[in-house]
Amino acid sequence: MSTPSGLIGVAWILASLLPLHACTGGAETSASRETTPATQLLSEPSDSFVAADSAQLMSELRFLSSDSLEGRRTGETGNVLAREFIRAAFGDAGLHEPPGGFVQPFEFRGRGGAAQVTHAANVVGFLPGRDPSLGAIVITAHFDHLGVRAPRPGTPEAALGDSIFNGADDNASGTVALLSIARYMAQNQPRHTLVLAALDGEEVGLRGARAFMEAGWPPEIALNINLDMVSRSDSLLFAAGPFHYPQLRPILEAVPARPPVVLRFGHDQPGVNGVDDWTGSSDHRVFHDEGIPFVYFGVEDHEDYHRATDEFARVDPTFFVNAIRTILAGVLALDEQVGPASSGTPGAGERPGEPVAEEGGIEGG
Ligand SMILES: [Zn+2]
Repeated sequence: MSTPSGLIGVAWILASLLPLHACTGGAETSASRETTPATQLLSEPSDSFVAADSAQLMSELRFLSSDSLEGRRTGETGNVLAREFIRAAFGDAGLHEPPGGFVQPFEFRGRGGAAQVTHAANVVGFLPGRDPSLGAIVITAHFDHLGVRAPRPGTPEAALGDSIFNGADDNASGTVALLSIARYMAQNQPRHTLVLAALDGEEVGLRGARAFMEAGWPPEIALNINLDMVSRSDSLLFAAGPFHYPQLRPILEAVPARPPVVLRFGHDQPGVNGVDDWTGSSDHRVFHDEGIPFVYFGVEDHEDYHRATDEFARVDPTFFVNAIRTILAGVLALDEQVGPASSGTPGAGERPGEPVAEEGGIEGG
């Protein structure tokens, strides 16, 4: 995997966006479409938009994963700096403020019932839809990460004395994807009301997602689209969720992945030998537990997962930008085709139903 950084990296991305090679991901579960001409992909306004936005989004990724933010741990200074950055970006994008404003504080009790964490907050904005009767699509990405901690003895980062868990892929990448999607959708009014939520406290037990749900706004949610780790892969980007909500699968199957990205289903079915079930691994779980359909976009765990080496320089810019293009195309297709928020619980009978862990320690995403 090549890992250019800085201005060279940005120039390289822009150059690499021009020739779109034919996709050859031929796995049976692939949702990519090999027959889609590259010229057609290039003509999509959303693809052109993300290409034009790529220098800004790489700059945002660099800032959010910089050492100065100290790993964005919930309740700490670097996390608050990230929150303020996201709030400003939401405002610049032209998002509307929900009741209570962009920043929605919450508290929770820390591990072992000890200290109360009092400086947590989600950042939430929205765009009114053309058809308010459909309810909202909520796009989520957590912006918190693990902070500063001693690296595991014997690891390369321990030898380097690196104790800052930058969380470039986990999940500065999903947060930046959220910002780019916000900028595009603000200029292209969605059919559903679109709520964009940068969530806090995911790494300590999906706390921000739970606070968002408990706040009760928006009242009707048709779908959750969760982004968590979308910047590092040779090719595979997973769309998990359609096992539980099969009505979503044909919508996503018709979305051509943007090379080198190959969009694949999976990681949402319990009991598959050798394959992790990600149904409970990130914030989408809280929506799923309420019977709200979800699509989770993310990559496989990699060697730097939950390590101090999850850094900006190791992000693959070409994959990342084309993952955002693919996800944005998915957002547009889902917005166009998903029906109204239902008061029922679609797929409820298929949910695994294991109890929610109350003391954090969520390892996924
Ligand atoms: Zn994560």
